[in-house]
Amino acid sequence: MSCWTHITACFSVDTFIQDPPEKLIKQVEDYLKDAPKITGSESDADIFINVQSGHNYWTNYDCEHCKYQSTQREVIVDDKDYLECDAPDGHDCSAEYQSCIVISIQGDLRDRSKAQTKEEFKQFYKYIKKEYMIRDYAVNIEGE
Ligand SMILES: [Zn+2]
Repeated sequence: MSCWTHITACFSVDTFIQDPPEKLIKQVEDYLKDAPKITGSESDADIFINVQSGHNYWTNYDCEHCKYQSTQREVIVDDKDYLECDAPDGHDCSAEYQSCIVISIQGDLRDRSKAQTKEEFKQFYKYIKKEYMIRDYAVNIEGE
């Protein structure tokens, strides 16, 4: 007889990465490739990554990403380093980014006990925490 355990979890995470949404997701996906798995004998739990709405970071000189990035150079003003480019007057180099994401987990896990899944979730949590800031999370694990 097989037993099933079900997991539904959601993390609110700040990655502190300033990149456009697709690039941000790609970086998190790459990091999560090596994350401890939340396993089942048929299939492991699915992990989903979404970028939160709005933005939490804004800059005047986003010359690392702007159209004139090939001309960017370092300038020092009041002992602080800035990156600037040779954009013509009137070109807007500003940008806004959202570094906060939501990581959600859903799994119907065959042949796992609640205790096993709890332990695997704990390892996954630790792995996220090693690289990013977990702002909040919720988890529900149900056994049969
Ligand atoms: Zn620029």
